[in-house]
Amino acid sequence: MKYDILLGLAIGVFAFLVTMGYNVFPIGLLFVTSYLVWKYVISRQMVKNGSGVAVPTTGIDFEDIGGQSVAKKELQEALDFLLYSDKMKALGIRPLKGILLSGPTGTGKTLLAKAAARYTNSAFLSVSGSEFVEMYAGVGAERVRGLFRRAREMVRKEKKSSAIIFIDEMDILGAKRGSNVSHHEYDQTLNQLLIEMDGLKADQGPNILVMGATNRPEALDAALLRPGRFDRQVKVDLPDKDGRLAILKIHTKNKPLAPEVRLESIAHETFGFSGAHLESLTNEAAILAMREEASEINEHHLHEAVEKVMLGEKLDRKPTTEELRRIAIHESGHALLAETVRPNSVSQVSIRSRGNALGYVRHYPKDDLYLYTKDMLEEQIMVALAGAVAEEQILGTRSTGAAGDYEQALNLVEKMLLAGMSSLGVTDISRLNADQRQTETRDILTGLEERTTKILKANIETLLRITKILEEEETLGGEVLRSYLQTVA
Ligand code: ATP
Repeated sequence: MKYDILLGLAIGVFAFLVTMGYNVFPIGLLFVTSYLVWKYVISRQMVKNGSGVAVPTTGIDFEDIGGQSVAKKELQEALDFLLYSDKMKALGIRPLKGILLSGPTGTGKTLLAKAAARYTNSAFLSVSGSEFVEMYAGVGAERVRGLFRRAREMVRKEKKSSAIIFIDEMDILGAKRGSNVSHHEYDQTLNQLLIEMDGLKADQGPNILVMGATNRPEALDAALLRPGRFDRQVKVDLPDKDGRLAILKIHTKNKPLAPEVRLESIAHETFGFSGAHLESLTNEAAILAMREEASEINEHHLHEAVEKVMLGEKLDRKPTTEELRRIAIHESGHALLAETVRPNSVSQVSIRSRGNALGYVRHYPKDDLYLYTKDMLEEQIMVALAGAVAEEQILGTRSTGAAGDYEQALNLVEKMLLAGMSSLGVTDISRLNADQRQTETRDILTGLEERTTKILKANIETLLRITKILEEEETLGGEVLRSYLQTVA
């Protein structure tokens, strides 16, 4: 930071001298050259000292990682290669050199690597792929050499028999060769990693295992995934309901939960959350409890925290009275249609702005589903369209508030086309021309919009009543909404 300010100042002085008519070229050249040499020396120094490329870490067990039972099992099996290396050597089995953890962000890949180090009692070094990216030729490759050197040193100093090198953002260091702009330097760095991995021999020096993590495994160079390098690939997916419950339990262990709190229901409504989201949720719930000066975390703190993590902070943004009525009609349309096609599915409807949303309806996920039928997709599209249709039915016009809903509807139609659920049947949609695709999409959407309009028209009184209640109350829980729907029906 200090150096950036100095650099800014120097540029300012040069600009001033130029405007005053001085010839600054020689001194400028001297300055730029010294700056580049200085940066180069600093980066060399970093390589030598190992700083910025390796952080020793400890303290995480596999028990501290919720869910991920398949990943943990696969990983533990692979790690037995390190634990029982003598047996492996006796049988002539070549050592396992690399394990690649792949999956969405925040799912616990770093935690798994730390737990692996503890499980195998290995020295642990953690680096990020981006730390190897340098504009100076050879520095990245030298850093890779430095990293392996450091790993060997750590093993010696800590009197261990093995080391785990964890490389996060593996796709930056290991992207397909030739795919980067300054690809020569990137390629040299990757080549060096391959050379170091190839040089890991069972009978020479300590056992070193490289663990890479990425959320874009498809971007990696094929040479990295070849047998003898990243031999094992472990998928670390978003947790399912049981996994989410386990993670919530881990992160609420040190927090005072009220006795009535049912973490099962929180796990149920957090479909699609990663471990990092769940950790953040428990933290937010504790902050909300603190703000209310409560001594325990209650269900409502947790529910509010789910909303905050999902949609962002509540905003004080105040729409006009007319806008508020339109938002209430829009959200009531979504909620009414959702309860009609899938009773008991709404968990909350609100016209309070949060994050980017002016209002929102939250649905209970229908357990963790991996497959959707045509009916389910159609229902979801109708729920998405219902906001705009409700606006049109009551106010005579639509608004820009439906843009996000249309995007969602179009994505769902795309899924139907891909799954052969359209009138075109099973087809390669990449071969359809724009017109064919457009016609098919429009036909599906028009049909579903007609069905949506029919349902809302038949229930217009209910829609108006819910709108009015929502304008007064701002937020309605699913149960309260359903009780109103019953009294109106
Ligand atoms: P990225 O791909 O962004 O590097 P990652 O998959 O490496 O993410 P971690 O850094 O391991 O994710 O997890 C981030 C935080 O989320 C952890 O410190 C932990 O608090 C929480 N977390 C993630 N997954 C789990 C899990 N399975 N069990 C418990 N906590 C988890």
